[in-house]
Amino acid sequence: MTLEEDLWMSWREAARRPEVAERLRSMLNRIDQQVNQSGFACQQSGRCCKFESFGHRLFMTGLEIAWFRSLVGEPPQRDTDASRSLTVLDAKRDGCPYQVDGACSVHPDRPFACRVFFCQEGSDEWQSQQYEAFQIEMKLLHEELGLSYRYMEWRRGLAEARAAGV
Ligand code: SF4
Repeated sequence: MTLEEDLWMSWREAARRPEVAERLRSMLNRIDQQVNQSGFACQQSGRCCKFESFGHRLFMTGLEIAWFRSLVGEPPQRDTDASRSLTVLDAKRDGCPYQVDGACSVHPDRPFACRVFFCQEGSDEWQSQQYEAFQIEMKLLHEELGLSYRYMEWRRGLAEARAAGV
């Protein structure tokens, strides 16, 4: 097993632990509450999930991606050649592989980075504060669990996880 695969397996094993899943869910619930109190609202245009045209990228930890994949599995297949890798598929797509017909197909389980992003003017500072608080908590969780902390681009992480069998 490569070092990379080892890392993904460690995140997957951690994500499978009920107490860890509960912590991660609780972090998502808390950001939802913060969003409700913030006054920012998603217009659900789906534009920000089309990363190339919108000029946006999502970043998150390997642990979050491993947990996400344990919840929702593979993205909906939108290519007739199932043998192609996720990376190849994604290179053809303008955006997130979980976006279907302009909408998020995994809305209840979408990652923190999706929940906290708003295209509304004036939300940047609020977003930075939420990210900072989330990352501090996430790093602490990794330390508690003895996990390596890695932060990565969303689709790259999905492709790596898949390649590692996670
Ligand atoms: S997971 Fe859902 S909300 Fe997040 S980028 Fe993908 S389609 Fe958009």
